[in-house]
Amino acid sequence: RHLQPWRDFDRSKVYTADLESALHYLLRVELATHNTLEGEELKVFKDFVTLVAKLYPGGGSVVKLMETLSDWLLSLPLQRIPYQAVLDLVDNKMSISGVFLGAELRWVGCQGSQAGLRGYPCSLWTLFHVLTVQHEATPTAMENTGLEDEAAPVLQVMRRYIRMFFGCEQCGRHFEQAAAATMDQVQTRDQQILWLWNQHNMVNYRLAGSLSDDPLFPKAPWPSPSLCASCHEEKNGVHVWNYDNVLLFLRHHYGASNLSPRYSM
Ligand code: FAD
Repeated sequence: RHLQPWRDFDRSKVYTADLESALHYLLRVELATHNTLEGEELKVFKDFVTLVAKLYPGGGSVVKLMETLSDWLLSLPLQRIPYQAVLDLVDNKMSISGVFLGAELRWVGCQGSQAGLRGYPCSLWTLFHVLTVQHEATPTAMENTGLEDEAAPVLQVMRRYIRMFFGCEQCGRHFEQAAAATMDQVQTRDQQILWLWNQHNMVNYRLAGSLSDDPLFPKAPWPSPSLCASCHEEKNGVHVWNYDNVLLFLRHHYGASNLSPRYSM
């Protein structure tokens, strides 16, 4: 794979270019492996599109595209949709707005030091962290979506999406195990944010030093003390997280005001 020129970035920011590239990859590469969407697949895809349409911050062209896609999916009486029809709609809408989902993937905070590292999986984590924070910040966003009765709609939709579509099947199995064990205990929006953070750290622990570990971005408990000193404490000589401060940090880091449009299309 061709490696793009390095883009300088700030690790304390989240880049909309990564979120847009996540959706680009999801809609045009990951989904393209399914010729038609039907039954449970179609339901999972609809819920994912609804979630992003309602919770993606900023109200820009991404939200307009996802709203259009969502309205279209909900209005169709079909039980079965060819993938090509989804792609046509995404392409048409793109040429109208002209800004969303250009011709290439543009990784910024998710760029890897070598081709094949980071990129899409990094951006998918990032997207879902942003959505958990946005769900807390906009309490009424899920009304009348069919998802309003779920205690943790972002996690539930993520779980179903990963199980059904995520290209890395081993990742899907691990995530499903974790979800089955503890996701049902999540009752509040705060807990939803922290559950995903904690689960992501579990994956970081497991993958530290593995082949998928980018030497420039070694897997480690996150946030590091340099990103958030008050997140870390020591009790009787043992490292512990200060969960209140972790939550404050996550709200800030993945919040709408910390999104950078730099490199965005
Ligand atoms: P990533 O882990 O992708 O993190 C992206 C960015 O998120 C980081 O750069 C950092 O800014 C931030 N971040 C890091 N940790 C946290 C945290 N705890 N909370 C909030 N933000 C954080 N790969 C496997 O090989 N095996 C697996 O079983 C596996 N399971 C996965 C399950 C899911 C649901 C997903 C989305 C991915 C999975 N992956 C798995 C891929 C793997 O987790 C990484 O995404 C990939 O290796 C790229 O790593 P990265 O260095 O870009 O950092």
